[in-house]
Amino acid sequence: MIDKNDPAAVRKHVFHTFFLTAVFLLILAILYVTVLSVNQRHGKNLAQDETLALDLSAWNFNSQGMNFLESGWQFYPDQLLVPADFDENSPTFDNKLPRNDASSLPHFSNVRITTAGWRNIGTSATSNSSDLIASEIDAFGYGTYRMVIKVSDANRMLSIDFPEIEQAANIWINGEHVKSIGTVSTSKDEYIAGEATVNLKVMPTSNGLIEIVIVCANYALPYGGICWTPAIGTTTQIDNLNLVSKMWITSVFTLLILVIITGFYVSFTFVSKKKYYFFILIISMSLAYEFCDKAFNPLPGNWNRLLQTTLFLLMTLVATLHFASILPKDPDSFFDRLNNWDVHIIFSVTCLLLIVFWINPQYLYNIKTIWIYSLFVAIVNLYNLMRILYAVLHHIEYRIFHLFSAITALVIFSTMQVRTQQIFFIPLHSIGILLMIFSAATYFTVSYVSTYSQVSRFTVELELAVKEKTKNIAKVNAELILANKMLLENEEARKKMMSNVSHDLRTPIAAIRGYIELLLNAGCKISEETHEKYLKSMHTRSMQMEQMIDDLMQLTRLESGGITLNTQTLSMNDVIENLFELYQGECKNTGKTITIDLPETDPLNVIGDPNHLIRVLDNLIVNAMRYTFDTGHIEIIAYRETTTPDEDNVHIIVKDDGSGIPSSEISYIFDRFYRASNSSSQKNGSGLGLAIVKSIVEKHGGKVWVESVENLGSAFHVLIPATSIS
Ligand code: ADP
Repeated sequence: MIDKNDPAAVRKHVFHTFFLTAVFLLILAILYVTVLSVNQRHGKNLAQDETLALDLSAWNFNSQGMNFLESGWQFYPDQLLVPADFDENSPTFDNKLPRNDASSLPHFSNVRITTAGWRNIGTSATSNSSDLIASEIDAFGYGTYRMVIKVSDANRMLSIDFPEIEQAANIWINGEHVKSIGTVSTSKDEYIAGEATVNLKVMPTSNGLIEIVIVCANYALPYGGICWTPAIGTTTQIDNLNLVSKMWITSVFTLLILVIITGFYVSFTFVSKKKYYFFILIISMSLAYEFCDKAFNPLPGNWNRLLQTTLFLLMTLVATLHFASILPKDPDSFFDRLNNWDVHIIFSVTCLLLIVFWINPQYLYNIKTIWIYSLFVAIVNLYNLMRILYAVLHHIEYRIFHLFSAITALVIFSTMQVRTQQIFFIPLHSIGILLMIFSAATYFTVSYVSTYSQVSRFTVELELAVKEKTKNIAKVNAELILANKMLLENEEARKKMMSNVSHDLRTPIAAIRGYIELLLNAGCKISEETHEKYLKSMHTRSMQMEQMIDDLMQLTRLESGGITLNTQTLSMNDVIENLFELYQGECKNTGKTITIDLPETDPLNVIGDPNHLIRVLDNLIVNAMRYTFDTGHIEIIAYRETTTPDEDNVHIIVKDDGSGIPSSEISYIFDRFYRASNSSSQKNGSGLGLAIVKSIVEKHGGKVWVESVENLGSAFHVLIPATSIS
């Protein structure tokens, strides 16, 4: 089994089949050539004895094969003779024909049958008849052929084969009338058409003689007398001779059926499907023509020739239409300007000829109509060939197809035009058809393979595209799953936030309520000092609450886009220096220290909202202070960082040597309400500070991240797009 999706395998398979077909056809062609060369009807010049008998007694039919009776004929023009006229013992013998004096015989002896048949008798034979005028014979006539053959006793049963006897004839063998073809005219003015291929079984007389007497009406042009060399051989040999012709046409016919069937399916893959049908029509008609030939004679009388002529004319018309259909309309081209006229003219003449022939079949044998008809077909075919050559030169599409159909059509037409005897004619014509079928098979196979591989390529491409799309869909799906997960996480975070908010707000409220209840219950029993302490605690708690609500509101506004930045050019150097002064003051009286490291010449200008950016740094410094130990050191570093000519940033680092953040929690600390485990010592704080920082920095087109090692310290990095130095 071949893999249909693999174009290379398909191509290999088709070419393999094609190769085998080619070999088969080659063998057929060799067989044909062999048969053709063996059976060429070239007669032998055999000796005649004193009675003018052709002596074949030394001829061994079994080992030496058939004999072609080319020479040895006697021809009596303008005489309707019967065997009795040659038989002295016959009661009707009138001694009109002196036989022993060859020089005074009123007949042609040694009549040669040329490739054009006996129709050239007037010029090729030697005549000693003074009243015979060649032109008379050419016009119309009747005459008698006679041959006497002497065979050996061993050849008791022989057959004589006349591949073509045209018009009317009566045949006598050994004095017996054996066959009538048409009707022998008794007058030159009466003309009755008839034609046949004749195979006659012959039994030699007791003295080994075979006398053939044939009376023919109209032995002259166009279809006169015996047209092709008769043959004599054993009955089997003659039967085989005919069988070979029939077998040949049968094999071509079988091949045609195969082409029609396979071509029918293959043609679905072609754009030129209609042209394929035209092509098949021409071949089918040519085969039908072949079947109407004398070798087969399927119909009686004139019907075979009438059908042949009709098919021939129709084939010419179909070929014209076929070739006309190839040329696209182009007003500049000579052939295309003709395109309608030519078809009209050819169509009209074809119809006219068909009407003439069908109304009066006599014209099929009329020299003038035959000339007109032959000339018409020849001109049309020549014209078609010119058109096709033009099409091949000017139109690339289906070039090979058109060329081979033109050539093979021409071969068919020319072989049909040249009427030859059956053994020669049928294979010659058939080889034309064979060539045509073979070329068509080549053309269709090549086109089919290329179409198939194109389709296969498209399939592969389509499969790739589908794979690619599936990949994309899988990617989108994964993204959706991730998004869904994030939504779920967000939902979780929202729930957590709600519980955090409620918890963080409730804690100070509960504390404040506790102090109020203490004050109410205690009345005036508590000291002023305690009273003040309670009030301070309540104040701190409410401040905490306020801070938290502020943070929450700001974050919500930042995240929902409810805040518009009040941007202006701002020196980060100034912002950091101001904050530094503030926190340096706070560090006094504690063990903590704070330092800054800023560029001296660069103000580190950015476009930003001062309040928000101050908030960012403030949050980071507060956190650093919060999460360092009592003797902790905080360092603020800022500098300009130019990664690419287009990317110029201010990089600020707030560094401490405090508790650091556990590595597992680093990725969460910018989330709302997230407080890492190190924050447990710090009661103050809501977990909102870094979320606000991130939101503000991102709104300024920057980014923030942290590097931290637990127990060693943290470094918070902020990157904000800088304005250029100048
Ligand atoms: P909080 O109000 O808790 O400080 P933040 O959002 O400012 O909230 O910080 C979130 C968490 O990040 C803090 O609870 C703390 O665990 C951790 N954190 C922030 N800054 C630092 C720092 N400089 N050193 C160590 N941990 C820090």
